[in-house]
Amino acid sequence: MIDNRLKILPYNKYGALGVDLAVYSEEATVGDYCRAIEDYILCGSYERKRAQPGTCEGCDICCHERIPLTSIDVLGLKEQVASSLGLVLDLADIFQRFTYIAVSGRVVDISLSRQQDESCIFLNNETKKCLQYEKRPFVCRTYLCTNSSGRLAGLRDSIVNSGEDELVRMWLLTAKDNGYIMHEASEPAVSTADWPENVWTGKRSFAEVVIKEIVSPSLWADLFEIDPI
Ligand code: SF4
Ligand code: SF4
Repeated sequence: MIDNRLKILPYNKYGALGVDLAVYSEEATVGDYCRAIEDYILCGSYERKRAQPGTCEGCDICCHERIPLTSIDVLGLKEQVASSLGLVLDLADIFQRFTYIAVSGRVVDISLSRQQDESCIFLNNETKKCLQYEKRPFVCRTYLCTNSSGRLAGLRDSIVNSGEDELVRMWLLTAKDNGYIMHEASEPAVSTADWPENVWTGKRSFAEVVIKEIVSPSLWADLFEIDPI
């Protein structure tokens, strides 16, 4: 049963209720994780550290922070922009208009672009609502301002890091005659050899990305359990 491939669990630390995750199937995907945590955010009771308990409704604190992106986030954004704004943009346009690319030496960081007040480019500051909610990035879909177990935090980091690696590889391919798209640069020295294809390459949905293939063997050993049901 796909629904049983992983589960969000309560996590108690210092008397505050947070979140944990256990994986029960070698086929569990990042899409399973997104769905489970979204359900938990809606129905679960856990302590929100940064806002009044009970709900995220009306709070936009985490929409004023850096949002790193994965390859699938940007492909989804391209689709969404085409359908909701009626614009057909190529990937280079998406990188230019909706992301912030900072390069320092060989290091590349790609995050969501922000407004002048540092809020996310997709935040409606009056309503405090996300204008791209259906296609909001992985980081937005899975963030909870609560205590996380080490294995859940490790999984989230592994997903963001490997997904961003593939995004950087895609960005390198959009280079034109006038060079790479960059919004900030400090002695840039990017090399395509640093960004080989990985598990995310060629995938267009989180349901195609298998968790076991992107985490280290030791993290997998921490995450995997025999389903108690
Ligand atoms: S997760 Fe974000 S929106 Fe929800 S309460 Fe915490 S800071 Fe606010
Ligand atoms: S994409 Fe939406 S949910 Fe994510 S930071 Fe921007 S406004 Fe907030």
